[in-house]
Amino acid sequence: MQGIKDKIRTIPDYPKPGIMFRDITTLLQDARGFRKTVDEMVQPFAGTRIDKVVGIEARGFILGGAIAHQLSIGFVPVRKRGKLPYKTLQQEYQLEYGTDAMEVHIDAIQPGENVLVVDDLIATGGTAEAAVKLIRAHKGVVVGCSFIIDLPELGGRKRLEDLGVKVLALCEFEGH
Ligand code: AMP
Repeated sequence: MQGIKDKIRTIPDYPKPGIMFRDITTLLQDARGFRKTVDEMVQPFAGTRIDKVVGIEARGFILGGAIAHQLSIGFVPVRKRGKLPYKTLQQEYQLEYGTDAMEVHIDAIQPGENVLVVDDLIATGGTAEAAVKLIRAHKGVVVGCSFIIDLPELGGRKRLEDLGVKVLALCEFEGH
C-alpha cells in the first residue's frame, strides 16, 4: 500500500500565489488510507486516558469525528468566530494580517478532562494554540495534538511544544 504522504495531493498557488495547498481529500477518499490515518493518529496515545476529542474547523471535524468514534468518546468542535450557536469562550489568534478568533461552547469540556486536539495540518501553529488555550481555560488537560501533516519551516510544532504540548504528525512537507 502507498504511504499516507503519497496519497496527499499538492496544489500549487492555492488559494493564493506561493502557497502549496496540501489536499487531504485524496487520502480520505481511499478507504485504507483513511483507516490507516485514523489508526496512526491515535496509536501513540494508546494507554493514555482520553475523554474528548477536539476537532479544529473544518478538516479537523472529519478526522476528529472518526477518531472519537474509534475511541468511543465525545467529540467537541472548535470553530471560527460566530459559527457556534450556544454561549462560547473565545480565543483570538494572529493571522498574517490582523487577527481572528476560535470558539468553543462553554459546556463542552469539563475540568480535569483529558483532551486530544486534532487537525489535518500544522503550519504556524496559531490555530492549534488557540484550541489549546480554550481547553486550558476550561481546566481541561491537553494530552496531545495530532496532525496528518507538519510544515516544519513554519515552526508550529515548536510553538506547541513550548506550551508543554505533545505533538504528533504523520508526515512532513517542505515549504509553506
Ligand atoms: P496554522 O494556524 O498556521 O498552523 O494553520 C493551520 C490551519 O490552516 C489548518 O487548519 C490547515 O488546514 C490550514 N492550512 C495552513 N496551511 C495549509 C496548507 N499549505 N495546505 C492546506 N491547509 C493549510
